[in-house]
Amino acid sequence: RQVPQEIAILLESMQPLRLRGYQPWETFCDSVGALMNNTLLPKDGKGVLVALRPVPGIRIEQALTLCRPPRAGDIVTLGENRLVLFLSFCRIPDLDTALKHIFPLPVADIFSNRMVWYEDAQIAAEIVQMRAMQPEKWSKPLKMTADVAPVASQRHDDNARRRVPTLITLLSEPEGEPR
Ligand code: C2E
Ligand code: C2E
Repeated sequence: RQVPQEIAILLESMQPLRLRGYQPWETFCDSVGALMNNTLLPKDGKGVLVALRPVPGIRIEQALTLCRPPRAGDIVTLGENRLVLFLSFCRIPDLDTALKHIFPLPVADIFSNRMVWYEDAQIAAEIVQMRAMQPEKWSKPLKMTADVAPVASQRHDDNARRRVPTLITLLSEPEGEPR
């Protein structure tokens, strides 16, 4: 059956929330810009934009390999030696919690500087600045980043992320052989 037009418009306007992980600079700006213009989403409650500058000795492309957002709607891009993240529906007091879920190492060990925007007008203004940046300053991820799957078997608690043990069989016994 055909989806009613109002529902189709609603679904279309939520499209950016289905993206996750690295996005090219333009896609990132378009997606966050579209969310900011979406009047169906709560005012000043759409999420947090964070720009992180790596500690000396770490390139942003390397920092990106450590950035594994588990939640759909959390997107990241690279440019001007900054890693820029948009965390959908994250509230500002929860920023550190969300970053702990996204990076396997303490964020302070990877990044020395952070800038944060969380109101619609601030985020929209920063997106305007980002759109104005020359394409030469955009950075591309390392090839290996694209191949990294999100960490599936993990569990979070307040202090650390832990792997959830999964059962594996090292050697399968030949059929019919007594144990
Ligand atoms: P999703 O939002 O794309 O999140 C994918 C996975 O990221 C989750 O798998 C979970 O492992 C992790 N994750 C995302 N957000 C958080 C968070 O705020 N805290 C913690 N500790 N982990 C988080 P999971 O749990 O299997 O959930 C699968 C999907 O089910 C989620 O996809 C989401 O669509 C939905 N979901 C599960 N629990 C909730 C919830 O409490 N609220 C909402 N709105 N959706 C939920
Ligand atoms: P919230 O989205 O209101 O989620 C509140 C709590 O519901 C989370 O506490 C978690 O216990 C549970 N929850 C929400 N979504 C999921 C899910 O998909 N799977 C599972 N298993 N549990 C879920 P928590 O983890 O302490 O997070 C507190 C707040 O931190 C969240 O509030 C959200 O604002 C932010 N946050 C945490 N992780 C992420 C993330 O990966 N991405 C974003 N965008 N925000 C996150």
